[in-house]
Amino acid sequence: MPGFERFGDLEREELQDVLDNGVLMRYGFDGMRNGHWKAKALENELKKTLESNYVQLVSNGTSAVSVALASAGVGAGDEVIMPTFTFVASFEAILLLGAIPILVDIDATLGLDAKAVEAAITPKTKAVMVVQMCGSMANMNALLQVCNTHDLLLVEDACQAIGGRYNNKPLGSIGDLGCFSFDFVKTVTCGEGGAIITNNKEYYTNADHFSDHGHDHIGSDRGAESHPFLGYNFRISELHAAVGLAQIKRLPEFLEVQKKNYTILRDALSEISEVTFRTVPEGGEESYAFLNFFLPDLETSRKTIVNFKDYGIDVCWNYYDNNWHYVRKWNHLKDAKSLFPLSKEIKDSLSLLSEKTFTQSDHYIGRNISCLIKLSWTEEEVKLRAQKMKEAILKAL
Ligand SMILES: *Cc1c(COP(=O)(O)O)cnc(C)c1O
Repeated sequence: MPGFERFGDLEREELQDVLDNGVLMRYGFDGMRNGHWKAKALENELKKTLESNYVQLVSNGTSAVSVALASAGVGAGDEVIMPTFTFVASFEAILLLGAIPILVDIDATLGLDAKAVEAAITPKTKAVMVVQMCGSMANMNALLQVCNTHDLLLVEDACQAIGGRYNNKPLGSIGDLGCFSFDFVKTVTCGEGGAIITNNKEYYTNADHFSDHGHDHIGSDRGAESHPFLGYNFRISELHAAVGLAQIKRLPEFLEVQKKNYTILRDALSEISEVTFRTVPEGGEESYAFLNFFLPDLETSRKTIVNFKDYGIDVCWNYYDNNWHYVRKWNHLKDAKSLFPLSKEIKDSLSLLSEKTFTQSDHYIGRNISCLIKLSWTEEEVKLRAQKMKEAILKAL
């Protein structure tokens, strides 16, 4: 991660096809295209890579989450259970539909704690949204069991985990619907883009129509198409899809580099007895996009981050003090700062959230350090980095 570090000829060639025929839109203009349908081609590649029957591309990962939920009928007043540790996008994507995000604790996987999920279920709960943070996953068997028992939809936000697997299935393909982002800093990038994957034909058809103003996409005259229901514009452009098409073909190469770099860093840090690693559930294989480890306490984590700066170690974070990925500092959301009036149900839920504390999540996030694994590092650089990280941590202990 991120795929832009290896941007090259393949990306340029795919992009040139689109520039040559000038069709920047994914639908229509059949005669001008010279056979180039980049969004369709990328959807077909993703079907193979993500071992799913249906794929719908959209404009970004945030809209992928909204479209996935809408496609399965989640909306006003429905409660969606999600983790305290995520990217703020998952929260926004739920609110967009008038649904209510219910935040619950994470465990040592850094993903949803199935017990916390079960305790948060109410008659209004419609879906559970698991977020596969930093290249790994929550305990999916436990979550599947809770969702099956309570007849809840399981949506996977796998935006940060493309290439990871669980029980030999790609992350994103385990729940009823999976969401991906191809924004500029993701493992596979196309600038801005996203995808929804599912094996449910009805959800797919809904996503296809909903993400394009409700168009049914039957025939070749857009103006004459019918609209079975309300939709919006969450389309991806052909320019973005072209870059994505090149990048997805390179995913195996990216994953190999990530794994190699991750392993060098992990082996070095394993030599420090106070360092422990995030739990990967049995049957899980990370995408190796990040290395996540725990220190004994928040104090040591904070000191380590300061030492990392002194040692020139970038792209490592302690999310406890972060405004984007952890609920603790989401003040604009807790204070219900919105340009337009929010529903009473949403305002009430945000007010409840502002009073809540998440001791169990604090325990894990406070002690966690999350390091991005870059694709551009040379082996020499990674080895030197590993050495410096070790020294910086030992100094903080
Ligand atoms: C990146 C990301 C998103 C949002 O994707 P965008 O394409 O940036 O809108 C959603 N969830 C998670 C976990 C992400 O990392």
